[in-house]
Amino acid sequence: MADDVLLENYVGGAWVRAEAPDFLEVPDPSTGRLLARVPRSGATDVDTAVAAARAAFPAWRDVPVAERARRILTLRQLLETHYDELVRSVVRENGKTAEEARGSVRRGIEAVEFAASAPTTMQGAFLEDVSAGVDTTLLRQPLGVVVGITPFNFPVMIPLWMAPLALVCGNSFILKPSERVPLSAVLLARLIGEAGFPAGTFNLVHGDAAAVDALLTHPGVDAVSFVGSAPTARHVYTTAAAHGKRVQALAGAKNHIVVMPDADLDRSVPAIVSSAFGQSGERCLAGSVVLAVDPVGDGLVARLAETVRTLAVGPAGEAGTAVGPVIRADHRARVLKWIQEGEAGGAQVAARGAVPSTADGYYVAPVLFDRVRPDMAIAQEEIFGPVLAVVRVPSLDEALLTANRSRFGNSAVIFTRDGKAAREFVHRIEAGMVGVNIGVPAPAAYFPFVGWKGSFYGDLHATGRDAVEFYTRKKVVTTRWF
Ligand code: NAD
Repeated sequence: MADDVLLENYVGGAWVRAEAPDFLEVPDPSTGRLLARVPRSGATDVDTAVAAARAAFPAWRDVPVAERARRILTLRQLLETHYDELVRSVVRENGKTAEEARGSVRRGIEAVEFAASAPTTMQGAFLEDVSAGVDTTLLRQPLGVVVGITPFNFPVMIPLWMAPLALVCGNSFILKPSERVPLSAVLLARLIGEAGFPAGTFNLVHGDAAAVDALLTHPGVDAVSFVGSAPTARHVYTTAAAHGKRVQALAGAKNHIVVMPDADLDRSVPAIVSSAFGQSGERCLAGSVVLAVDPVGDGLVARLAETVRTLAVGPAGEAGTAVGPVIRADHRARVLKWIQEGEAGGAQVAARGAVPSTADGYYVAPVLFDRVRPDMAIAQEEIFGPVLAVVRVPSLDEALLTANRSRFGNSAVIFTRDGKAAREFVHRIEAGMVGVNIGVPAPAAYFPFVGWKGSFYGDLHATGRDAVEFYTRKKVVTTRWF
């Protein structure tokens, strides 16, 4: 693709120029080199997409669910065929390493596989004789037009959490991908078109806040699935709900890793480092605070520091890179500010990695902080970069109190050999996705992705049966035959 390509929206089964005159540049975060330009679609572009989705809905919802599921299976096959291309796209525009990108695309395909089970998961219920000669049937029907608004950190996986399941449930769908990673979405739109979904059932509208706001307030939109940062999630949830839409909004995180004195450090340390520094810390399930339960602290910090110092930071596509760039120069500046704030606040830098001196990309040297106080901002705010804070605590009780004070509750994990401590942790921790001796406890696509507290706004979660419930509404029919 030529660098000056201005991307097009995909509406009603055709690629169309956005009417909005404005655009943003899309650089490769590993090099700073321009990859494309993305239009900042406005209300008129959104209007056209919603009209196309509404027009496609009545015929699509009448396509038998087994036939809709077959299109999903065709899409799955196309995703397998184009797997390497999707991986390259994620490496190039997001800055994940090839291994990280492969994993994320694979998890996206798993969500497509789950969507194909709609003939089972959409089933309702029937009860004979609720009264003499009276029967009740519960049906699940599609909502209409569903919008998906996605973040930069999983350019393929998160759109695949949403679009296939919404479509197989009989809805039409509009994707507004992150303006920072629009190229993988273009590829997905192409494959969804090839899979034979009728024109207008899947649409792609590029843009940023203006496009989002037009979608949230549009009378032709029935439901909104959102994944992104906490302030945007709050805005999306309140605005869309105020306009009468069903909303699920997955938000930011600050995830705790409890390390007990009996933990197997040989296995725990690599898992902790991968959780905190993998994908440059740009993961909503990244562990970012270690709660080291006495007396594990000194030994643990020494082992973590040893590994962090040797992490190879470099271009995402280069063999041997362990930590790629962060997404943009302004994001790097924010991460560096958090690091400065941690140092100024008295946290000890136990280890600092190195960045390539010649590269033009957006690199941050990984930092391990020790003796962080739980009330420090670096222990409370989402940094979304390669920074890990170690807080020393005297007991599991104190670890639980500290983690549970967080306003977020996406995930939390414990490393231990003690079943009783693990059980206590699972029982008392106030987070929705919990791991025992697992660095990143990401649920498989047939389970819900369960954020708690400030990490989620809504009732029904993404993926799994929750998502089937979200993309359908129930109808209860009471029948008597004379
Ligand atoms: P973001 O909030 O900046 O953007 C997400 C989407 O919202 C994008 O499509 C963007 O165009 C749109 N947007 C941004 N600002 C907006 C505004 N003011 N008004 C309307 N729309 C707006 O998020 P991001 O930086 O792309 O993604 C990273 C964040 O997403 C992190 O906070 C991370 O924790 C979170 N995240 C959460 C989960 C989860 O499951 N909870 C998963 C992945 C990422």
